[in-house]
Amino acid sequence: MEQRLRIAIQSKGRLYDETIGLLTEAGVKMTSSKRTLLVPSRNFPVELLMLRDDDIPDAVATGTADIGIVGLNEVLEKDKAVEVTAPLGFSRCRLSLAIPQHTDYPGLNWFNGRKIATSYPVILRKFLNDNGINADIHVITGSVEIAPGIGLADAIFDIVSSGSTLVSNNLVEVEKVIESEAVLIQATGRIMPDIKCKILEELLFRFDAVKAADDKKYVLMNVPADKVDEVLAVLPGIKSPTVLPLADPNWRSVHSVVDEKRFWEIIGKLRASGAEGILALDIEKMII
Ligand code: ATP
Ligand code: MG
Repeated sequence: MEQRLRIAIQSKGRLYDETIGLLTEAGVKMTSSKRTLLVPSRNFPVELLMLRDDDIPDAVATGTADIGIVGLNEVLEKDKAVEVTAPLGFSRCRLSLAIPQHTDYPGLNWFNGRKIATSYPVILRKFLNDNGINADIHVITGSVEIAPGIGLADAIFDIVSSGSTLVSNNLVEVEKVIESEAVLIQATGRIMPDIKCKILEELLFRFDAVKAADDKKYVLMNVPADKVDEVLAVLPGIKSPTVLPLADPNWRSVHSVVDEKRFWEIIGKLRASGAEGILALDIEKMII
């Protein structure tokens, strides 16, 4: 039988779209969009095992799946025999302690003797123990943020991304405990057959190419011949920017790759150096 690398992913929820998006950009096409439990790819030797995110660390630890894609928060909370092979850069959030607004907050000691509602008791217990805080943990699985408002707890420990849920529940974030993002996990100490290792290697290579391209732009511009050196000094480039002649001997076409984060800063400098007709294009993949 043909060997396939089995990847456990979230069947629906916040991780689903971006996981499928990453696989698609990596050239992995699925046979059907119907969310059956096990979905093979039609052009790459992988199959997707669709699970609730809570069950992914265990599925990987026990070998039901070879690898998994899940939030680091779930990995830490479930505390199974898995390790992070690669961070994937999406579904970024943090787990934080939050308390009612307008509360005097002298520091972590405030939590001594208080009751904290959370869906992440393992991570919270460890954090409190590490900091010598003795608090009462109250586990609830949904709508943790309403607990203080209805008198169920003094504080919460929960996922925060923009913070707007906290604000609308009159809470304020006082301690960031962990940063999370989607990660690729493998079982600790389990050796996969060679063929699966090769498939994983190819998949990681493709993920890297997708990630590298994600925060970059390909920039083309026209530059007066006598300004080319000045413009090149502004461009970081991958190795060296491309400089091409134009029909008009006084002008050159300069191509380079620019970091999205520094995009506007660099464009400003390019214009000041005499660059004109600047085009910025999305890069689909980048193999370094
Ligand atoms: P399941 O039904 O699979 O158990 P769930 O309800 O536990 O799903 P989701 O709400 O779909 O989980 O969130 C899945 C993961 O997405 C979280 O564990 C976390 O890693 C990440 N996540 C959650 N909320 C946010 C957010 N607001 N912003 C970014 N990422 C988030
Ligand atoms: Mg879940």
